[in-house]
Amino acid sequence: VIVLLAGGVGAARFARGLVTVVPPEEITIISNTGDDFHVYGVHVSPDLDIVTYTLAGIVDDERGWGIAGDTFTVLDGLRALGVEAWFSLGDRDFATCAAREETIAAGGTPSSFAARLAARHGVRARVLPMTDDPVETRIGVVDSEGEEADLHFQEYWVRRGAQDRVLGVRLAGAEAARPAPGVLEAIAGAEAVLLAPSNPVVSIGTILSVPGLREALAATPAPVAGISPIIGGAPVRGMADKLMAGLNTEVSCVGVAAGYRDFLDAFVIDLADAARAPEIEAMGVAVAVEQSLMHTDDDAAALAKAALGAAAGTRR
Ligand code: GDP
Ligand code: CA
Repeated sequence: VIVLLAGGVGAARFARGLVTVVPPEEITIISNTGDDFHVYGVHVSPDLDIVTYTLAGIVDDERGWGIAGDTFTVLDGLRALGVEAWFSLGDRDFATCAAREETIAAGGTPSSFAARLAARHGVRARVLPMTDDPVETRIGVVDSEGEEADLHFQEYWVRRGAQDRVLGVRLAGAEAARPAPGVLEAIAGAEAVLLAPSNPVVSIGTILSVPGLREALAATPAPVAGISPIIGGAPVRGMADKLMAGLNTEVSCVGVAAGYRDFLDAFVIDLADAARAPEIEAMGVAVAVEQSLMHTDDDAAALAKAALGAAAGTRR
């Protein structure tokens, strides 16, 4: 089994390539759930749903999230009744999130629901939330007026457009969270573990905050290979640069690799960053230099092959 630690959009693009080079039945995806939250009475799990919809071939390609061709009748109805609906959720997507809310309220778990959602959409890869326990990514910020605030990740990113200066990131609930059933077993028994080109702070960093995860990555006999989401000192999209800078981490492939050095065997960096390879190799991590921008599924497949090759080239 190939294990993929995954955030949202960056991970989903990569996963779409990975399933063309590895049979999907042999892939286990461990999804970040720190972005989960309750809104309009339903349980949204943005990263897990993005990955599931993408592998199902129904994602809205333009936006990178949600379901292609979805309608927004529920949201319009909420707005007409005075709800400040800043989090966009299509009708079919709404049904997913309402079903999740109902399933969990009735005693089900996020992981059992994730399996049901994948099955319903014909996704053959296994998609696991990192934990069934609540973990919430909180961003400490100071706004333009000098006012400090503690925001849910979605308020920081979606509602306020990442405009505030970041003071710190807190993963509320992480200390008490247990890895979801199957997570540690998948890592321990993997052929290789890949870290998607996802946000190192609020996607991969959140997964690593679940007690036992980091240790499992260090202990597995499988090689662990990552792909840098930072190219030439900037993220391809998203706000990773603001979060990394807020945590005093260098915004570069070297900064990302340094955060994983205790368990990382190989790292794929972009051609634009070739000159930084020696600094990562000095951490005892093998480096592969590749074209890492995923414009097409073929790009994603080539990147997946490169990551698997880099992993296979190392020994534990
Ligand atoms: P989110 O949860 O939707 O923010 O998604 P992720 O955490 O999975 O992905 C966000 C990260 O993906 C950002 O840091 C981007 O730089 C990175 N990313 C997006 N597209 C690409 C790409 O084509 N190549 C690489 N190397 N990274 C990418
Ligand atoms: Ca996310």
